[in-house]
This record gives sequence, structure tokens and C-alpha cells, in this order.
Amino acid sequence: MNDFRADLHVHSLFSDGTYTPEELIDEAILKNLSALSITDHDIVEGYKRAIPYAKSRNFPLLTGVEFSTIYRKENIHVLCYGFPIESEEIQKLCAMHKLRRKERNEKILSKLKQLHIHIKEEDIQPFVPGGSVGRPHIALALMKKRVVASVKEAFQKYLGDGKRAFEPGEPITLEETLSYIKASGGKAILAHPALIIRKRLLKELLEMPFDGLEGYYCLLTPQEEEPLIKKAKEKGWIITGGSDFHGAIKPNIPLGCSWVDKETFYTLYDSRKTL
Ligand code: AMP
Ligand code: ZN
Ligand code: FE
Ligand code: FE
Repeated sequence: MNDFRADLHVHSLFSDGTYTPEELIDEAILKNLSALSITDHDIVEGYKRAIPYAKSRNFPLLTGVEFSTIYRKENIHVLCYGFPIESEEIQKLCAMHKLRRKERNEKILSKLKQLHIHIKEEDIQPFVPGGSVGRPHIALALMKKRVVASVKEAFQKYLGDGKRAFEPGEPITLEETLSYIKASGGKAILAHPALIIRKRLLKELLEMPFDGLEGYYCLLTPQEEEPLIKKAKEKGWIITGGSDFHGAIKPNIPLGCSWVDKETFYTLYDSRKTL
């Protein structure tokens, strides 16, 4: 079947997306996608609902998560696929991130306070019914208070890496993340590597023990995608792709605008681990 398309990078309400897991699956079916992986930031809670729902609709769903890591002071995202949601190692990483995010958000709010911008924990909560609180939720609270006009402006002025209210939080390193992922039986994929600006750092990352890289990403032209796809092929790495759909938080990115074919999807799906 040539028209098989699986979007392997999608966020739900459990992190900074605006669709529930069920809505994501419905939307994927509506858009004629053949399969999906929901990759929330640092949380796998959504799968408790997504797995039974996908089964009820007879829709192939691959477990996924996007871990935030630090490598040489840079934020590096790692996609992980094909783990059992009860995996001890994945649960441990998610618990570490939950604590990291709580402490980090408090620090961001206190930096904003120093800039005379008063956002309270309660102002953010309504935007995170799911759990994994992130900077986009603080951006929404800033919009609601009319401090900024858009999520983009919030990142440009306050929340983006290195900006006035930025706070990295307790670092959870790339190396430890990769070792937890290996132990879980999941596959570790370097997320959107083409967005990494420091080329020397990217070169180092390409020598690390990933199983693959995300080669197909909507924000890139095929010409921009090509060099890293070539590199991954040379290394025998899995080449994944996905939209990085966030719903209304990133309205310019439609579900399914990047995807993988049947062979790639089933390479991951068939090698997935169960407890
Ligand atoms: P966090 O997980 O709290 O570090 O926030 C990361 C999220 O913020 C990711 O989903 C990014 O896509 C989003 N993000 C990062 N930089 C920007 C930006 N400049 N504009 C809008 N969203 C951004
Ligand atoms: Zn996000
Ligand atoms: Fe990412
Ligand atoms: Fe993402």
C-alpha cells in the first residue's frame, strides 16, 4: 500500500498540545493517516486513554514520548518509541521531569515577578488539564493577562532559551536519558536535528548511541532535510518523521504534514517491547 502515512510526532493535552488523545486519533483517521505515535513532552499518561481508544477504533498506535534533555548546556529533544508504558525506566524519567518542571516553573514565575509581571500557579493550571506543564502554558497565561499578543512573542521576549525569564531547570542529561531508554527496550531518536544551530554539537550528537534521527519535519524543505537523511542512511539509523502537531498552540502546523512510510512504522511497531 503506497499511501500509508504514519505521523510519529504529535502532542496532546497531556503536554502542550490542545487535542485530547482521543481527538488526535479521530483527527488522524479523518485525515486518512494510517498510524500515529503521540509524543508528549516527558509524560506517557495519555496512553492510559489512548491505547484502549485506538484499539476500539482499530487504529495502530505506537507508544512514544519526547524527552527534554541537556547536552553541553543546549536543550536537546529525544524521541523514544516502542516501550511498554509501565516500563520502570520510562516511569522514572517521567517522574524526574515532573519534579524538574515543577521547580523550574516556580523559578520562571519568580523571574517574571522581578520584571513586574505577576503570573500565579493558578493562572497556568487551566491550560494544563493533562499534566506536563511547559513554557507554552506560561505563554498562554501571559497572553490571557495581555502581557503579550502571541505565544511567539512570549518566547521572543521572556521564555525562549536565554531570554529574560528563561530558566533551564535541573538538568537531566542526554547521556542518562539514552541509558534509561536503552534499558526500557525503546528506540532513541534524535528529534528535529536540523534545528540544531551549533553544527559542531550536531556532529557530536551524530556519534552518540541513538537508534535513529527525525529526518522528516514539516518546517523544513526537502533540500534542508536531505543532508541528515543521507547521514542517517550511512549510519544505518532509523529515519523517522512527524509533524510536531500541537493543535492551536502552533496553528500553522497541520497533523500529518510529515510522516513515515509503512516499512519504517512497522520496523518500530514490530520491535516494540511489552512487559
Ligand atoms: P518546555 O518543554 O517547557 O521547555 O517548552 C518547550 C516547548 O515550547 C516546545 O513544544 C517548543 O516547540 C515550544 N517552543 C520553544 N521555543 C518556542 C518559540 N520560540 N515559539 C513558540 N514555541 C516555542
Ligand atoms: Zn511542545
Ligand atoms: Fe521538540
Ligand atoms: Fe515536539
